[in-house]
Amino acid sequence: MGVVGSIAPWNYPLLMLAWKVAPAIAAGNTIVLKPSEQTPLTALKFAAVAAAILPPGVFNLVTGRGDTVGAALIAHPAVRMISLTGDILTGRKVLEAARNGIKRTHLELGGKAPVIVYDDADLAAVVEGLRTFGYYNAGQDCTAACRVYAGAKVYDRLVADLAAAVDTIAFGGPDLADAEMGALISERQRGRVSSFVERARAQSHIEVVAGGRAPEGPGFFYPPTVVAGALQGDEIVQREVFGPVVSVTRFEAPDEAIAWANDSDYGLASSVWTRDVGKAMETAARLSYGCTWINTHFMLVNEMPHGGFRSSGYGKDMSLLAIEDYTVARHVMIKHGA
Ligand code: NAD
Repeated sequence: MGVVGSIAPWNYPLLMLAWKVAPAIAAGNTIVLKPSEQTPLTALKFAAVAAAILPPGVFNLVTGRGDTVGAALIAHPAVRMISLTGDILTGRKVLEAARNGIKRTHLELGGKAPVIVYDDADLAAVVEGLRTFGYYNAGQDCTAACRVYAGAKVYDRLVADLAAAVDTIAFGGPDLADAEMGALISERQRGRVSSFVERARAQSHIEVVAGGRAPEGPGFFYPPTVVAGALQGDEIVQREVFGPVVSVTRFEAPDEAIAWANDSDYGLASSVWTRDVGKAMETAARLSYGCTWINTHFMLVNEMPHGGFRSSGYGKDMSLLAIEDYTVARHVMIKHGA
């Protein structure tokens, strides 16, 4: 492609950098990376290490805000491809810049992962899974297991057991020895998460059964939270919270669960929990998501592509497909003499 301009988010600063830099360089490009203005330090450290290994000009780093440095990077005529992991709104800006410059784009734009729990699922495994995969990185993860659909027969027990399990997640700063969950990225992000929960709580059919109130004191902490009784049309089911908040919705029939799971602007990741492997495979085939896990969630492996459908974007990170995304095919033909 030539020069790739890459824009990374704050939620996994080094990992997101690696997902962008490795396939771009492996495919023979050079890269100019802009980390998030909220988390530039690991990228600066990486640049210092890379400078001692890579030829000059292969990996380049610019720091700064999105609407100034980021906007200049994606509009630059020498940049032939733009890769972004970030918000849908930022994705639209990338597409505008790409339209003007006829550039290739690679977009990863968030998610709202559905988790279908059938009545025959191993509930203890579901609860243990959700306790981890719903709250990992304080839920600031585009694949977080945040939108649970529970079969009518297991719904009550799942809500009770999940609330009890989530209440045992210790959260706090690095000085708290047994902390499993840290703070959110910023005061602004905590305010955003908290306002989602307050708007959900204001609806009479919803019950916040764990967490739900920011603690007093320093740090941008928010407790692991479970919102029960959520309905498909609710904001808490439809919009990405990007915090430690999991909603649970009751379903009656598999068709309803699958239709609700697919009824989302996002299409990145999903999971299905059942003891019946046939039902799991059939459900996976009907889910319109870049990834479906069965009886687990959030298992990312280098060999498999990570990327979305619909507004989650279309770029693939990891696997050989990522190298293809950063590659342009051409052909050379010779007319041999008679
Ligand atoms: P963001 O879009 O605000 O910022 C992402 C990056 O884009 C930052 O580096 C920012 O400076 C830059 N940026 C912002 N405006 C820009 C502009 N006008 N021009 C150029 N660059 C600009 O998103 P965020 O708040 O940092 O990250 C959270 C979002 O990222 C969430 O929506 C999350 O779901 C998504 N995300 C997606 C994935 C995935 O793999 N699909 C992974 C992690 C995060």
